[in-house]
Amino acid sequence: MLYDVIVIGGGPAGMMAAGRAAELGAKVVLLEKNNSLGRKLLITGKGRSNITRAEFNSRQLVKKYGREGDFLLHALSQFGPKETVDFFEKRGLKMKVERGKRIFPESDSAKDVLDILLGYLKKNKVEIKTNAEVSEIIKDNNIISKIILKTSEEIFAKNYIIASGGKAYPGTGSTGDGYCWAEKLGHSVTKLRPALVPVKIKEGWVESLQGLSLKNIELLVFQNGKKKDSRFGELLFTHFGLSGPIVLDLSFIIGELLERGEVRLALDLKPALDERTLDKRIQSDFVEYANKFFKNALDDLLPQKLIPIIIEFSGINPLKKVHQITSEERRILVKLFKKLEMTVDSLLGFGFAIVTSGGVSLREIDAKTMKSKLVNNLFFAGEIINLHGPTGGYNLQVCWSTGYLAGQNAAQ
Ligand SMILES: Cc1cc2nc3c(=O)[nH]c(=O)nc-3n(C[C@H](O)[C@H](O)[C@H](O)COP(=O)(O)OP(=O)(O)OC[C@H]3O[C@@H](n4cnc5c(N)ncnc54)[C@H](O)[C@@H]3O)c2cc1C
Repeated sequence: MLYDVIVIGGGPAGMMAAGRAAELGAKVVLLEKNNSLGRKLLITGKGRSNITRAEFNSRQLVKKYGREGDFLLHALSQFGPKETVDFFEKRGLKMKVERGKRIFPESDSAKDVLDILLGYLKKNKVEIKTNAEVSEIIKDNNIISKIILKTSEEIFAKNYIIASGGKAYPGTGSTGDGYCWAEKLGHSVTKLRPALVPVKIKEGWVESLQGLSLKNIELLVFQNGKKKDSRFGELLFTHFGLSGPIVLDLSFIIGELLERGEVRLALDLKPALDERTLDKRIQSDFVEYANKFFKNALDDLLPQKLIPIIIEFSGINPLKKVHQITSEERRILVKLFKKLEMTVDSLLGFGFAIVTSGGVSLREIDAKTMKSKLVNNLFFAGEIINLHGPTGGYNLQVCWSTGYLAGQNAAQ
């Protein structure tokens, strides 16, 4: 049996690619090593799937994908956030826009997103083979001639799409197999790092804050005393260190900096107030609580779990009466509120990363078709390519856009 298109990997990129190729009349087989499709898709957005963003200006959108973001411009012009929303809504799944332009299904269900894709595959008669682990891709001259499954079964097609994902959350099936095939086929793969990943902190006190979530705070990244980056938003303390949206977004730069030396983080607990205004605010609380012990005077300023930490670092006796606190002691307190410092130990590994940074070099892929520039009948789609964005729907959009484009061109 000779297929028109073989798609390897039944994640969001592979499903979109297979469905689109079949919609155009190609005879398509989709190979997935798990016993079902879209295992990772089901856990996206904590089971709610943040499928894309309400950012309909492609030039603005690509800025968020870093230095190589322009690569996506063509794919977005063919199938961008608007087409993504239309795709799901036309098939009966209504979308809603949440804070920060994040788009989710109204049903808050990633399963509904998967069901729409499964319906798309079925309607267009894509043959789905689950429990089908690809072990080898065979190339003769500049053309792939067949793929070989772990069971030794051989499958043949005119065109091949690799959409086998990255290395993040390997338990979902994304074990990085595609990078090895790409290298064997002659492609270069840039350095692979876990990205959008929690950060392990050296200082033990962080553990006592486990479970504490802070909103509207700023996290600053320093190396050799110089500020390198910062984010404003939400952060979560865990038993090993820090997680939450702003930490995940900063993890890429933290990873890069760690390769050069020590990285320090500083938490600004009151980013809306400069030191003078904050000092006034503390003074007014201290007037109100003048006869309380210091340890009981911070309830309006800090979450309970943080109070013992700030008291310890301030060096102020917790049993001191508030009216006895000196202006010098208050100055130390202000500094702590504005710069609570920590040292990064490491990034957690691929097992905890939302995406992989690095991948098949974009220089070797035609951005207009997603076709390999090195192998005549090979296409790539999804996380396997050297492109990732921050949290907030950016990464699934890469899958929809590149999957659509690869499917469309592999079918032709
Ligand atoms: C916890 C979590 C939450 C996330 N939430 C969001 C979110 O809300 N919004 C967002 O935009 N992004 C989110 N992401 C990122 C997003 O899930 C990925 O970017 C996306 O799944 C990548 O899709 P893909 O199709 O390229 O690869 P994958 O989803 O990894 O799919 C690849 C498929 O290929 C299969 N495969 C691998 N090797 C083989 C082989 N040898 N043979 C056959 N099949 C193989 C795998 O089993 C897998 O099913 C999240 C990621 C995680 C881990």
